[in-house]
Amino acid sequence: VVLCCLAFVTEATYVKYKDPKQPLNARIKDLMSRMTLEEKIGQMVQIERTVATPDTMKNYFIGSVLSGGGSVPAPKASAEAWVNMVNEMQKASLSTRLGIPMIYGIDAVHGHNNVYNATIFPHNVGLGVTRQIGDATALEVRATGIPYAFAPCIAVCRDPRWGRCYESYSEDHKIVQAMTEIIPGLQGYLPANSKKGVPFVAGKTKVAACAKHYVGDGGTTKGINENNTVTNLNGLLSIHMPAYYNAISKGVATVMVSYSSWNGKKMHANHDLVTGFLKNKLKFRGFVISDWQGIDRITSPPHANYSYSVQAGVNAGIDMIMVPYQFTEFIDDLTSQVKKNIVPMSRIDDAVKRILRVKFVMGLFENPLADFSLVNQLGSQEHRELAKEAVRKSLVLLKNGKYADKPLLPLPKKATKILVAGSHADNLGYQCGGWTITWQGLGGNDLTVGTTILNAVKNTVDPSTQVVYNENPDTNFVKSNGFSYAIVVVGEPAYAETFGDSLNLTISEPGPSTINNVCGAVKCVVVVISGRPVVIQPYLAKIDALVAAWLPGTEGQGVADVLFGNYGFSGKLARTWFKTVDQLPMNVGDAHYDPLFPFGFGLTTKPSTGTA
Ligand code: BGC
Repeated sequence: VVLCCLAFVTEATYVKYKDPKQPLNARIKDLMSRMTLEEKIGQMVQIERTVATPDTMKNYFIGSVLSGGGSVPAPKASAEAWVNMVNEMQKASLSTRLGIPMIYGIDAVHGHNNVYNATIFPHNVGLGVTRQIGDATALEVRATGIPYAFAPCIAVCRDPRWGRCYESYSEDHKIVQAMTEIIPGLQGYLPANSKKGVPFVAGKTKVAACAKHYVGDGGTTKGINENNTVTNLNGLLSIHMPAYYNAISKGVATVMVSYSSWNGKKMHANHDLVTGFLKNKLKFRGFVISDWQGIDRITSPPHANYSYSVQAGVNAGIDMIMVPYQFTEFIDDLTSQVKKNIVPMSRIDDAVKRILRVKFVMGLFENPLADFSLVNQLGSQEHRELAKEAVRKSLVLLKNGKYADKPLLPLPKKATKILVAGSHADNLGYQCGGWTITWQGLGGNDLTVGTTILNAVKNTVDPSTQVVYNENPDTNFVKSNGFSYAIVVVGEPAYAETFGDSLNLTISEPGPSTINNVCGAVKCVVVVISGRPVVIQPYLAKIDALVAAWLPGTEGQGVADVLFGNYGFSGKLARTWFKTVDQLPMNVGDAHYDPLFPFGFGLTTKPSTGTA
């Protein structure tokens, strides 16, 4: 009797979807057969961190939570505190009837940039060693209990007036395609002979990646954010689409839809491109996520006809909707539209199947809770070394000495007195740019842990060399102090999407006057900290050496390493440097191509052997 009943109990409590030995599709099918409409729609909802209370997670069966740009910046917190926060939400999800784990996502777009003390890598505009940066970013994101990063941005920025240009690797789609190698860094390498389009994440030290923003985000008119990309199908397919082929062939788990329109049609409502092309033609089998309130913006003004937006977005093929606050309105609306068959049940099933597939593939059912085993990865010395290497390789030397036979760089470490000047010389926030702790970024040195260029210079020169810092000196000061040369660090303020759109692309004040005051009076190296090429031609004759350092992140040491010859300059321009803004847009291959520095340009130096 006892034996019989035990056997009976085991059979009754055996749950197929919970059995990791079952094939993936059998698990998905079994779980879906048990789910109510309410539970299915809950899976499709991604809400913002501050509204994700345990009760909300449970009562609405929420499938995902995010820390996004629009979120309230997270307070300075340890990796352990993050793990505890994420786990608390996860425990609420696990306590529901079916115990489906939620997936927490975050914008880790240049390292784990929302988190204090994380290693901040250069923004994509300056990047070279991407696979390893993917590895390091995945470890730092997982260190905080988070398994999902909204990266990489594989936009092909065709106009630097776009405030997100620095999130793009290049104006050239071939470079962007090559840089999708960050995806195996984030997710792990897709096993050979995997089926086309399957999502892949290798386990607890990797994160689900997100190729964004599908598609044509970098092609909008005048670089206006969220605007219209006007090009024929061939233009779309040959410039903006190719990187998606690479991302999908590497097993990218998710794709985020772009706010922008293509020839006037909002991508969030574009069934042909989201379902027809991405899902059917390219066979992408991960999930498609909306952008932050992306479906609201299907109408203008946003949210003007929410029911229409909900059905247009979901019917276009968006699987997970970044709501992020008004989730009850979304849930009620979608539920009623499914009941009326305006959104077919098959569409909901497709969405949920894709979301569950990613969660199963990632092992979230087996390992839903994070432990503290990776906390030491956050901001680790090893990752900071990697970031320094990335910075060194990202620098592009645009001019070196007024006469070719008299190069100024590398600078000698031993000199009597050097001047470091400029608004960006001692400013970690400017070095990191937007998407660092806060959405738009911040100036100043308090936002996180790192080394400014000024401090890096001090660390690098010979102890006998006097380093004088003056943010904006006048010519008199420069002339009367006996400096052997000066390093002037200027550039753009921190900015991110929309707020960074600019029609004039100037160096921010008082940078131009700092260049003028210093460079006429003493030999000078100008280091430009910017997310894109900026207006430099008017000052060029005065400048002895010019370095584009892009947005190098927390490890300013990489800049000093190359200026003083510990390493050579090797970087090449992945963007065309214009003469005047009225030439824009101007990309390599254009008929009116007449750049100040062409695409691919970059002088080199050899490491110096000793001190001068
Ligand atoms: C951006 C996305 C980002 C999302 C979440 C949006 O405003 O366009 O790139 O992933 O916010 O923060």
